[in-house]
Amino acid sequence: MSNDMHFETKLIHNERSITRQYGDVSVPIHHTSTFHQSDIDAFGQYDYSRSGNPTREALEETIAHLEGGTRGFAFSSGMAAISTAFFLVSKGDHVLISEDVYGGTYRVITEVLSRFGVEYTFVDTSRLKQVKDGIRPNTKLIYVETPSNPLLKITDLEGVCKIAKDHGCLTFVDNTFLTPELQKPLELGADVVLHSATKFLAGHSDVVAGLAVVKDPELGEKLAFLQNTFGAVLGVQDCWLVLRGLKTLHVRLKQSQETAYEISRFLDSIPEVKNVYYPGLNNLEGSITHFNQAKGAGAVLSFRLEDEEEVKTFVKALKIPVFAVSLGAVESILSYPAKMSHASMPKVEREKRGISDGLLRLSVGLENVEDLIGDFEGAFQHLRKMKKEKENIQQLKRGAI
Ligand SMILES: *Cc1c(COP(=O)(O)O)cnc(C)c1O
Repeated sequence: MSNDMHFETKLIHNERSITRQYGDVSVPIHHTSTFHQSDIDAFGQYDYSRSGNPTREALEETIAHLEGGTRGFAFSSGMAAISTAFFLVSKGDHVLISEDVYGGTYRVITEVLSRFGVEYTFVDTSRLKQVKDGIRPNTKLIYVETPSNPLLKITDLEGVCKIAKDHGCLTFVDNTFLTPELQKPLELGADVVLHSATKFLAGHSDVVAGLAVVKDPELGEKLAFLQNTFGAVLGVQDCWLVLRGLKTLHVRLKQSQETAYEISRFLDSIPEVKNVYYPGLNNLEGSITHFNQAKGAGAVLSFRLEDEEEVKTFVKALKIPVFAVSLGAVESILSYPAKMSHASMPKVEREKRGISDGLLRLSVGLENVEDLIGDFEGAFQHLRKMKKEKENIQQLKRGAI
């Protein structure tokens, strides 16, 4: 597939190097753990499926191609991809990391890598000065999520990558929220792009998968070694599901993004909503930076209600969105970061990062926009009714005293 094709064309015709003996249009699932070797001296292209499998390779080549990298790697989950990539750093190294990073990533660094002598500092990477000031002589890695989760904070990727290069350290970017359809971190100077393919890439809430992509072949060799060593590879059936999901990434994201924009504007007009966080709204700090490095605002937004009680009433009244962890699927998914994605973060840390008990995150799916907005409107009406009733009871009580 030549590089001048549009992204959506590349999504469809992506099994470039698979030899299709029978002309299969869909990538064959090579259900085999090992491969027969016809000679004791000359082994074939594959020897054992942890080290390499044609179906997995199809996915790995596809994501490398889509991200503009040279090499891709498929893992059994986003966390497997992230954890494996973290082992590019060593004892005594220091890592600078976005402070509102995904909860699982927070856990790996604070509870596992810390035991192996890896030092870390959380900084607000949306402030380049904090990144610069956080650099130590032993800093080997800057880890960024942009937009961040769940507050959609924007980090200037080129700016961060430049700081990293000046100090001889690597930059990792978790690109789960935007996918290469909307943002290509390798083109902006990042060294490793990470994905929870569970989300938009696969897109149907039916598989847990992770991907990593690099541009530098030498770094690719190191990551290949780690992938084979740790062995957290993605099974072939799941590789196939991700490949299948990828084909519709363009149309799914396009539709979900359009709807997310409408919903963000609707939420912004509701008095009960304290804040709306969405890069498509120009009141989001950093939205100019965002559109300098990304082609769209994505399909995830967050908004803030008063407190946990309001969240509870509101969520109960909604009919359409699935109330669950995860994001990036055909169905809209509403989640409650305080008790879901960021439950592993201590409450003080969580609140310091603005992830309060009133915050909700919405990943917009493919439902009809009027149905979704109607559903939200109904839930707000219910919320108002409940608040009014509570006020009336309180007034009654006061009157009775
Ligand atoms: C879900 C998610 C992960 C973790 O991926 P899994 O596939 O659940 O292991 C990492 N980063 C972000 C931004 C995510 O949303």
